Amino acid sequence: MESQSILIKNASILNPIGDGKTEEFRKDLLIVDDKISQIDEDIDESNADKIIDASDKILMPGFVNTHTHISMSLLRGIADDLELDTWLNDHIWPMEAHLSEEYCYIGALLGACEMIKSGTTTFSDMYFYMDGVARAVDEIGMRGVLSYGMIDFGIEEKRENEFKENISLIKKHNNTADGRITARFGPHSIYTASVDLLERVRKEADKYNVGIHIHMNETLKEINDSKENHDGKRPFELLDSIGFLADDVVAAHCVWLDDAEIKLIKDNGVYASHNPCSNMKLASGAAPVAELLSQGICVGLGTDGASSNNNLDMFDEMKFAALLGKASTLNPKVLTAEEVVNMATINGAKALNIDAGTIEVGKKADIILVDANSPNMTPMSNTLSSNLVYSANGSNVDTTICNGRILMENRKMVTVDEELILSEAKRAIKEMKELREADE
Ligand SMILES: [Zn+2]
Repeated sequence: MESQSILIKNASILNPIGDGKTEEFRKDLLIVDDKISQIDEDIDESNADKIIDASDKILMPGFVNTHTHISMSLLRGIADDLELDTWLNDHIWPMEAHLSEEYCYIGALLGACEMIKSGTTTFSDMYFYMDGVARAVDEIGMRGVLSYGMIDFGIEEKRENEFKENISLIKKHNNTADGRITARFGPHSIYTASVDLLERVRKEADKYNVGIHIHMNETLKEINDSKENHDGKRPFELLDSIGFLADDVVAAHCVWLDDAEIKLIKDNGVYASHNPCSNMKLASGAAPVAELLSQGICVGLGTDGASSNNNLDMFDEMKFAALLGKASTLNPKVLTAEEVVNMATINGAKALNIDAGTIEVGKKADIILVDANSPNMTPMSNTLSSNLVYSANGSNVDTTICNGRILMENRKMVTVDEELILSEAKRAIKEMKELREADE
């Protein structure tokens, strides 16, 4: 195949470089095929297939959303302002009973559209009917790290089915779509999955050489129940006791942690996914992110599902991460704009083991252009990170590129018909509500 190149001229580049630091410079950037191939002053225009003038744009890595349930976009706004238990038992689970592969496919397209339009190029998902999600990711052109939400409630027959589903996902979809799709195991949590399931997940993850995506320490109730049901052990202590913890685990939430658990996370190289909007909306609490970062733990950012957020906009997530971090420690100096940009990009890429998240030659071309020429981005008195974290929102994203391919340009979706996706999503949720009403 002929190689394809995109030359981006004269962009203000924001590059997260790790340890909460960033660098900023103005240069041209050349993409050849799926990679960043040159970053320089005045790159020759004659060989480029496409040229983008980015004089009034900020160029940065596409966001990495480390924890979501993308098809839950269909359940956006289904129930708000409730406790997690009530929300799940009385609203979310009864609706989810009517999911199908088709609905999850439509929900995934809807969520992917929203993510691409707000600058996200990679997401890590845990849900059901993952064939439908994989199909959506393949078609729309994003990067997806997919896991099946395994729940057995201690029932052996159910457990067998969950392994069948998750292993099928791995066999069918791991390293497909030009490497854009990878797969993982997704044991839902220690309160929905038995110790038998969790022990076997560790063995199978080693066997298939894939990572693990799990909800951890989300609510105080989860901690208390864990101590009661597992000989006084807190959730991370339970997982440590069965040899589950390793550097292929991404633990979503990590809100309620004691010092011993923080040490277990650090010593085992576990990655944390911070979900401030979901944690605040469900009143789960404030994760000790400043402490985790100061211990050198790699913390990414995630939106969680759109039904507990209620959007998938990583700009919101960055701002809330910074504000919650400051408000919960009474210290305005923690979770700086630069630190939060790192969490949303390079840290997430590390957590998901993808070769993106920074603007460097040789990295995958997962890049966004943010329009700096808009009222809420003017003036640019401080760093680029400052405006991006505290002033910007997803609508400021002008262009989204993943794996060297343009997915959105001038705010118009390129790979899919956005209008059609919106109308299909409205039809799907209407049908699901009718099915739900027929239950009663
Ligand atoms: Zn979640």
